[in-house]
Amino acid sequence: MITVEQIALAGVVGAGGAGFPTHIKLSGKADTVVINAAECEPLLHKDKELILHRTEIFVEGLARAMQLVGATRGVVGIKKKYVPVIETLRPKLVSGMEIVLLDDAYPSGDEFILVYESLGRVIPPGGIPLAVGVVVMNVETAYNVAVAPNPVTKKFVSVAGSVEHSGTLCVPLGTSLRECVNAVGGVTIADPAFVVGGAMMGYIETDLSKPVTKTTGGIIVLPQDHFVVQRKRWDWKKTVRVGRTACDQCSFCTELCPRNLLGHPIEPHRAMRSLGFNLSARSDVPGTVFCCECNLCSYCSCPEGLDPKNVCAENKRRLLENKQRWENPPFRPERANQQMINRKTPTTRLIQKIGLAGYPNKAPLDDRQLDVRNVVLPLRQHIGAPCVPVVQTGNIVHVGQLIAERPLTNGKPALGADIHASIAGTITEITQESIRISA
Ligand code: SF4
Ligand code: SF4
Repeated sequence: MITVEQIALAGVVGAGGAGFPTHIKLSGKADTVVINAAECEPLLHKDKELILHRTEIFVEGLARAMQLVGATRGVVGIKKKYVPVIETLRPKLVSGMEIVLLDDAYPSGDEFILVYESLGRVIPPGGIPLAVGVVVMNVETAYNVAVAPNPVTKKFVSVAGSVEHSGTLCVPLGTSLRECVNAVGGVTIADPAFVVGGAMMGYIETDLSKPVTKTTGGIIVLPQDHFVVQRKRWDWKKTVRVGRTACDQCSFCTELCPRNLLGHPIEPHRAMRSLGFNLSARSDVPGTVFCCECNLCSYCSCPEGLDPKNVCAENKRRLLENKQRWENPPFRPERANQQMINRKTPTTRLIQKIGLAGYPNKAPLDDRQLDVRNVVLPLRQHIGAPCVPVVQTGNIVHVGQLIAERPLTNGKPALGADIHASIAGTITEITQESIRISA
């Protein structure tokens, strides 16, 4: 049987974007493990492809997670429209495991929404799934749990948008974004922008030499004048100027906010109202700390095309910086049953609204082994402290060899995840931020 310590030594982190060390999560006790297979970021498909093509390994990862946390129930939350994936998975599930079919809505992959949709349990504001007896894991994280004690050295990445053949690659960690884009045939437009992590919650990357990390889920290539690219380029000044002048307090952002629909006290229209009192939104709106930054309000719900998400995010950042916590916030979990069902945002509508309807919405797994000659492995690819190199320039390393480990705090490894060589070669550079290996 695998142990939590072996998973720690394998460097497994949440592969869905957050990068929380998995061994910490699996140290808790829960009655249910929920696998997040919703993958609701438009055009990304790596989780479905992984279930489809690595089914047994994925199921083994779920079984191990259940065993470690003492869960008797394992739930795979997946959108009901992915029929071939569901049909492949269902016969492979073992005792205690089940599939929960989700509506095609955004953001059903938000873990608070997922836990409610899968189990009918509402995680309280500021809480974690464990508060309702649940551990949530991403599909690829479960895969990496199954592969342990072999360390995490590869990453599944969907590459989509204006590329020759959208697809999902399995690349060594530290591969450059450029190599991923070239591997699917390159870009098909003259002046591309690169969105890393997903159209809704990702960011624009201008340096394609940046590496794929343990949390990189996708690369979407779009024209510079595309809605998504333009919106991600709004700066704070524009958010404030436009928000102050154009917000009519219609409250649509609040009425459709998924966290508000769960009964959490997040009300983005109030955050927008605070803009009217001064230019930097210094009137704090405490409920903003419960915003999951899904961008639904900014990209879809607001009829004026304003940016409530970033107003919430700015408020939230300042509140956390000032260590202002809202003790015992009001919580109305019954709202989920009353409102959620009628106010889901269909993904198809979202895709149309943000201008992605013209792109192939598929990314089949391309199982080729890329001949990657150089990788750059950041020392922090996870939540927690950066790792400390245990190799020196000139050392020769093999795939899977430990190259950086969690620093010690009071004699124990700090929160974080060890890092291993993803290709065989020579350590050619060590900086404060990363380690480079050349084949
Ligand atoms: S930000 Fe948009 S949706 Fe929200 S209250 Fe203002 S105008 Fe309405
Ligand atoms: S980004 Fe907007 S819709 Fe999403 S949780 Fe925050 S306030 Fe709600």
